[in-house]
Amino acid sequence: MNQKAVFIDRDGTIVEDVPYCNSPRKIRLLEGAGKAIRRLNDQGFLVILITNQSGVARGYFSEETLGEIHNKLKEDLGYFGAHLDDIFYCPHHPAQSCTCRKPATGLIDQAVAKYGLDISGSYFIGDRLIDIQAANRSGCQAVLVPYTLPETDYFKLEISVDSRPSFLAGDISAAVDWVLADALGKASVSVVIPTLNEEKNICSVLPRLRCVPGIAEVILVDGRSTDKTVENALRLWPEIKVINQPGRGKGDAMRAGFEAACGDIVVTLDADGSLAPEEIPCYVGPLFDGYQMVKGSRFCRGGGTSDMPLFRRFGNFVFTKMANLVCGCRYTDLVYGYHAFRRQILGSLCLKSDGFEIDTEMYIRATRKGLKVKEVPSYEAKRLEGAGKLRSFHDGARILRTILRESVNG
Ligand SMILES: [Mg+2]
Ligand SMILES: [Zn+2]
Repeated sequence: MNQKAVFIDRDGTIVEDVPYCNSPRKIRLLEGAGKAIRRLNDQGFLVILITNQSGVARGYFSEETLGEIHNKLKEDLGYFGAHLDDIFYCPHHPAQSCTCRKPATGLIDQAVAKYGLDISGSYFIGDRLIDIQAANRSGCQAVLVPYTLPETDYFKLEISVDSRPSFLAGDISAAVDWVLADALGKASVSVVIPTLNEEKNICSVLPRLRCVPGIAEVILVDGRSTDKTVENALRLWPEIKVINQPGRGKGDAMRAGFEAACGDIVVTLDADGSLAPEEIPCYVGPLFDGYQMVKGSRFCRGGGTSDMPLFRRFGNFVFTKMANLVCGCRYTDLVYGYHAFRRQILGSLCLKSDGFEIDTEMYIRATRKGLKVKEVPSYEAKRLEGAGKLRSFHDGARILRTILRESVNG
């Protein structure tokens, strides 16, 4: 029940309002509509058209023609790399008093049932009071864009409390700006922390994490620690979700943590204190600005590390160059474990790595799948206590194997 949607009205909201539009040739996208819908597509919202088309019942055009009109609309959106995930329309005459003609909620209800939508996290963008009323009655947030026809329906409708939008936008782009900003404010973040005997370090990491806004849950994936790691974590963060790692290795732990995560956003964090929890907002923000994955880099401007001997720096450089060749991109650090992504993308990544190579696998696959990945500067500190678990040559070989495997499977 985590999937969110943005319902969009058709006439006057994304296309010019032609009364009883009866031909694909009359479809004209409004300025900014294609790009705005693409931004919603990129952010993982389902974009669903909800439109009253009583012209069918009135005999002005057939459902077949309506299908052609919608195909033309999809084609036009395609030029902007945008798409509609579904279209629900009411073909009835107002006099039929059906349950689907807006302001009734029938069409929205159908979409909610079909996709298992989280309605309170969903939005409706429309240009008429009937859109706003349908939205408010169904429990999603309503955004009103300016009405484009000269005669108005404001006077024909009973103005009631449910006629009030959450936001009045100048146009569809401004509406989408608001939707994304609102969604960012409500986003729930799951932080996944793999641990193995980090009883001291975890006591430094968790209190710092407390200061970060928007953390909905922390998932500690424990690789059978024999010290007080779990005990300390529970003391500092009583509601922490502790999972016993099924197998071995960091990748195995990560995958178990991802599986258990419920938030919109997943952030990975180390238990050793080397990754600053304070950086989390820098990773989450871009996820509401067109990116599906945000990865840290120690080697771009503003990044750094105090935890890397020269030979590892060299290995890292070579692996990053190779992985860039494989996925056709220009990242500066592809062997780093600090990242955030929309939980929805996990399904398409099909991760299977067990070790440290999971980070490289994620970046290569995400980029290959055409996901938008942003690199942000990150500072890696020295681990606070104890020895790291990365074995340079052993893990280096695994990373290398992963890069080679991905280059073959591409
Ligand atoms: Mg309209
Ligand atoms: Zn209907």
